[in-house]
Amino acid sequence: TRSTQEWQAADARHFLHPFTDHKALAAKGARIIERADNIYLWDSNGQKILDAMSGLWCVNVGYGQRALIEAATRQMSELPFYNAFFQTATVPAIELAEALAAIAPPGFERVFYTCSGSEANDTIVRMVRRFWDIEGRPQRKKIIGRVNGYHGSTMAGASLGGMSAMHAQGGLPIPDIHHIQQPHWFELGRHVSREDFGLLAAGWLEARILELGPENVAAFIGEPVQGAGGVIVPPASYWPEIERICRRYDILLVSDEVICGFGRSGQWFGCETLGFTPDLIAFAKGVSSGYIPLGGVLVGERVARALVDEGGEFEHGFTYSGHPTACAVALANLRLLRQLNLPRQVGHETGPYLAEQFAALAAEHALVGEAQSCGLMGALQLVRDKATLAPFAAARAVGMLCRGHCFGNGLIMRAVGDRMIVAPPLVITRAQIDEMMALIRRCLDLTLDELRT
Ligand code: PLP
Repeated sequence: TRSTQEWQAADARHFLHPFTDHKALAAKGARIIERADNIYLWDSNGQKILDAMSGLWCVNVGYGQRALIEAATRQMSELPFYNAFFQTATVPAIELAEALAAIAPPGFERVFYTCSGSEANDTIVRMVRRFWDIEGRPQRKKIIGRVNGYHGSTMAGASLGGMSAMHAQGGLPIPDIHHIQQPHWFELGRHVSREDFGLLAAGWLEARILELGPENVAAFIGEPVQGAGGVIVPPASYWPEIERICRRYDILLVSDEVICGFGRSGQWFGCETLGFTPDLIAFAKGVSSGYIPLGGVLVGERVARALVDEGGEFEHGFTYSGHPTACAVALANLRLLRQLNLPRQVGHETGPYLAEQFAALAAEHALVGEAQSCGLMGALQLVRDKATLAPFAAARAVGMLCRGHCFGNGLIMRAVGDRMIVAPPLVITRAQIDEMMALIRRCLDLTLDELRT
């Protein structure tokens, strides 16, 4: 076996990482993660790390779950791959579709499989356009997303998302994709109450629909809680009002549940927690707890009826749509989520406990201006002045300073600007939340010390 330095040198020579500045990476050397168990990782130097981000928001059942590993080896021995094109199917793909329909909100009886969240959202763009074609209104092509939303990295995914840095590279968005502002009270709404701001922010959708012409608008897409944008939990008034607006103008409503799905919000799906019923649901990540790539689209009644009963063949699909090994692992994952009662535990125990701990930290720590959470996703907004909530100058990159201290102290936390975010595995216990909070405090203290010197 090679030394850490040797791995780092090979990495720097050959591996083009996603979302990475390679000069910075080469200067520092990648951290090589070697193994994991429960909520912890170990790197090649033997350091133990508490993974407060569940990998990339995906390892919902935690690491090292034998049931998932055994499901993969069993399925691989029996039938590692077969496709679902041309009127064939495999048993795990059928069983998983049935299991997904059983946990999905009422009316979601059908699933289209992809390998990732990006592909799920690409599929949604094609499906929505196909739907309006079948309905005889092909001019309904425009899809509205949100600034700072994240829907993946393919051409359509990156276009639906509202990340300006992504749009700047490669001439995005593609045509007919539009964006409205996000429901981010801390950034945009501090002059009004949260609930009033929720209605105001939903009103931006109606204004944009009227500007584009309702007859041209196909769908609106949003994450119940914006994840990569910084765990932006919208006011309770927001989503019900968005749903009313979509219904008023007959526009399809799409919930991107790639992060919020499979228990993270405290229920099976984020739309249940945030109080709305979409027409389509994108999922990935937590469906297989990241043990194997899998994603898809849950299709509600209205779109399913058009696609299945009226539309003939939908000219779309991937080699790995319904990959039997991926589906077998996801089935084992859903069984485990259910056995451990994790959505309920997050909704009634660990989620509220995290909210309490975050509120206590926000009340007392000089750096924290606001704490927000929903189930087991949370954000701490770092501020320069706690009394006025005045932010730090972006150039100080305080979030990155804090992330550096986390990195050095055995905690993986993400920085989105000056918002420090967590999304730990759903198996985290109260005692482990205490352990995580102690690490967070320590890293915030170290950041404050550094700012004062
Ligand atoms: N949608 C949301 C809400 C996400 O957070 C992500 C990934 O972080 C995606 C879509 C893209 O998923 P993937 O990286 O599996 O393509």
